[in-house]
Amino acid sequence: MDPANENKPLASAGKCPICGKPGTMEYKPFCSKRCADVDLNRWLSGTYAIPAVDDPEDRDDATEESQ
Ligand SMILES: [Zn+2]
Repeated sequence: MDPANENKPLASAGKCPICGKPGTMEYKPFCSKRCADVDLNRWLSGTYAIPAVDDPEDRDDATEESQ
């Protein structure tokens, strides 16, 4: 009811994936800009990157069936 009562993190913001504290609407899902930066740096440094699987095509077992 009271719009001034916004000092508590809203539940809809969820938990900060970095430190586990309740997130804020401003930086959701993070609790602060710092944690948002940490997440961003993880992205930039490739921590979240999907490992590139280079299909080595080593399937010569199935080709030589001369027996
Ligand atoms: Zn945090």
